[in-house]
This record gives sequence, C-alpha cells and structure tokens, in this order.
Amino acid sequence: MEKVLEVKNLRIYYELPQGIVRAVDGVDFEVYKGEILGIAGESGSGKSTLALAVAGLLRPPAKVVSGEVLFMGTNLLSLTEEELRRIRGKRISMIFQDPSTYLNPVYTSGFQVAEVYEAHRGGSWRRYVGDVVKLFRMVKIADPERRVNAYPHQMSGGMKQRVLISMAIAEKPELIIADEPTSALDVTIQAEIVELLNEIRKETGSAIIFITHDLALLLEIADRIMIMYAGKIAEIGRAEEIAKDPLHPYTKALLSSLQYERKKRLQAIPGSIPSLISPPPGCRFHPRCPLAFDICSKKDPQLYRVGGRVVSCFLYGGDHGGSA
Ligand code: SF4
Repeated sequence: MEKVLEVKNLRIYYELPQGIVRAVDGVDFEVYKGEILGIAGESGSGKSTLALAVAGLLRPPAKVVSGEVLFMGTNLLSLTEEELRRIRGKRISMIFQDPSTYLNPVYTSGFQVAEVYEAHRGGSWRRYVGDVVKLFRMVKIADPERRVNAYPHQMSGGMKQRVLISMAIAEKPELIIADEPTSALDVTIQAEIVELLNEIRKETGSAIIFITHDLALLLEIADRIMIMYAGKIAEIGRAEEIAKDPLHPYTKALLSSLQYERKKRLQAIPGSIPSLISPPPGCRFHPRCPLAFDICSKKDPQLYRVGGRVVSCFLYGGDHGGSA
C-alpha cells in the first residue's frame, strides 16, 4: 500500500510562562492511501496538536522540537510558508469541528468554495461556480444550484459542515485531516457526515485522518485506530482487532467505559490525564494503570510490535517480566 504520510519521532512542545508543555512527545505512525486512520484520546492527549503539525498550521508558542512529517516523501517541517501554502488546501486539507467558525458570514457558500479553486488554479472565482455545484451535489447538499448563493446563516449546522467538506475535497487531496468533524452536530447528522466521508475516500482514494474523543465512532468508520495518551501513542491497530482484543491497559479502560456507557452506567477511568508540564516519570499512564508494576514508574516503554499492532506497554516487551 502506498504510504501518504510518515511521522517520525515527532515532539511538539509549548513554551509557556508556567513551563514547557510536552504536548506531543515522540510519536511515530504512518497513513496509507485510501485508508481512514482514526486517532482517539481524551482532551489533552495531543491529537489536535498533531493534526495542526501535519497541516503545517502550528503557531507559536507551539514549537517542533524534533522529528519529521514526511508527506509523499517530503518533510513538511523543512518547507517555507509559501511552499506549505501550495500544498495546503490542494494536497492536504482540513475539516474542523465547528463549521460556523470557518465560514465567513458575509460571503455566499458558493463563493467561499470557488475561492479554493481560484487560489490554486487562478482566474476569477466565477469560472468555478459550475464545479462548486458539482461538489455540492457530491456532498449531498439538496438543491445545489440555489445553495451556492446561500449565506452561512441561511444554512443548518449539517449543511455548513457539508460546505466545509466540499472545500476540503475540491482539489482531490491525497490527505484529509478531519478534527472532531461531527462533534458540533446532532447525532443523526453525525451519522450522515461519517457516511459521507467514508464514501468520499472510496470515490477519491484520499487518505483520511479522523480525530475524535469518540472511540465508538472510530470503531465504526476507521480502518486502523491510534490511541493517544498524554502526548504519546498507547496503541495502534486495525479497528476490529482493537475492538475485539485491546492490548494497552488504557485502550482496555476506554473500551470498558464505552460498554458501561451503553448500559447507562457510567464507568469513568480513575484519575485524570497528567499535567504535560511535569508528566509522571516512566509510563505516563502508570498512576492510573491497574496493571502497573515496578519498572512502569521508572522507565518509559517503547512501541513494541505485537503481530500487526504496536503497543507502548512493558507487558508486551522490554524484558521487564511482562506477561505478553
Ligand atoms: Fe500499565 Fe506499565 Fe503498561 Fe504503562 S507500561 S500501561 S503502567 S503495565
């Protein structure tokens, strides 16, 4: 399978007056053509910072301390802002959580989507209105000829998100990053948007990174899932393997809290995500881990390969007496 993205040993820190926040701390993963890689984790796990880095949208005080973000073999971190601008929107695009924030209330939806073509192909935006109508049809906006003239305030939340999605797919990018794309929507609209993204990747072959705190949603849509905890990867594996046989104790806890939620009995994971200014030594999950043993508070586990999966836990490697 063709590798679209390869992230190697990426560290992103925020330099704040209170201290250095290690938001992403040594992350390695790949994304392949046509797949949906889901990234899940609690708030503060580093997933959105990671998305911004891949899209070249990190701004101070965030700072890339080390690593590479290879997009089709080119390290995005070595490019100038101008070079990044040529890639962003055309070859890598983003869909954000709240479409209202990203649509300009004073311009029609059709104009705002046509601007994507204008920016990358030149000429007047008017040339592209027909293409925008086709895009609106593709993202299932009813009556697209009329909707291109609608302003954001004349559209529902779900329709605005479809407009953002049409912007994201306008240039048939190799990679789409969807950061909590359904969190601001009603449950029924969420399901439609998820189905739409699934259809789009099949039709265009784009790879999609789908970021959410909602693991249940990822289990339905993603091919592979990457679980993040406190700036690090806990586990990466195929969605069906993660659902059936989670390996990392944090993944197990996330899944069991889902199962309890379905039975309407809330089972929270004890404790909370640690401060990333002074994270606990060793495995960052050890203060909350029911399976922690002596080495866990002293050494940082590496990513160990278990079949087709990788898992960051001494139970699966590191010669520390684990039981894998
Ligand atoms: Fe738990 Fe230790 Fe594994 Fe961390 S390394 S998840 S503390 S068993």
